[in-house]
Amino acid sequence: MSIRRKLIAGNWKMNGLKAGSAELASALVANWTSGAPPACDVLVCPPFPLIVPVAAALAGSGIAVGAQDCHARPAGAHTGDVAAPLLADLGCAAVIVGHSERRADHGETDATVKAKAEAALAAGMIAIVCVGETLEQREAGRTLEVNTSQLRGSLPAGATPANTVIAYEPVWAIGTGRVATPAQAQEVHAVLRAELASLLGVESAAATRILYGGSMKPDNAAELLSLPDVDGGLIGGASLKAADFWAIVTAC
Ligand code: PEP
Repeated sequence: MSIRRKLIAGNWKMNGLKAGSAELASALVANWTSGAPPACDVLVCPPFPLIVPVAAALAGSGIAVGAQDCHARPAGAHTGDVAAPLLADLGCAAVIVGHSERRADHGETDATVKAKAEAALAAGMIAIVCVGETLEQREAGRTLEVNTSQLRGSLPAGATPANTVIAYEPVWAIGTGRVATPAQAQEVHAVLRAELASLLGVESAAATRILYGGSMKPDNAAELLSLPDVDGGLIGGASLKAADFWAIVTAC
């Protein structure tokens, strides 16, 4: 059995209103309480304004709440941004940083992602650091180089298996219904773990969770989650339906 406890994290992205999100959270709690406790950690990351009501709905369950981004600085004149200490204060256990949509939409570089991850750690939260290649990069044979380079540039100083999770998210598989084959996912995960070994040491690399993200659904989750270096999933679309998300949780 792996020393790494799997993590299933839902990224709700820019979806949901107050009522529907509370319903989704309550449905997850109902799943949590109706069966045996899942064999993995479970996290949901709603949009910022929904963190408080979702955390309230999840209270008492073992489902944690997280955020989809944070600013690199702990406070200050940064209109519209959200600081990591505030997220921690609201009850967030983790923050996703470096999602490809933020890298693309907001021009976030590896250095930005690293600084944000360090802010998350400084606030006592887990940083979920996303890396992944575009279709163009894959077709050019650059997949491994792109992912290892993003990992090297984005990994926070002070990363440990307890405070940092890596998410491999091939950009071409996000929200497209196209999923990496088990061989493609395992290849990148194994290379990322080898890169972690050179950055953090073999023991830390062996204990660090590397999630797969990109059109993970109930019908492909079990196969992806059974791969030796896949330690969970970062789930977009399927995290918006309680039944689908919970089917992935139980696939662990
Ligand atoms: C994501 O955006 O992190 C993601 C994996 O999305 P989807 O599951 O919808 O592909």
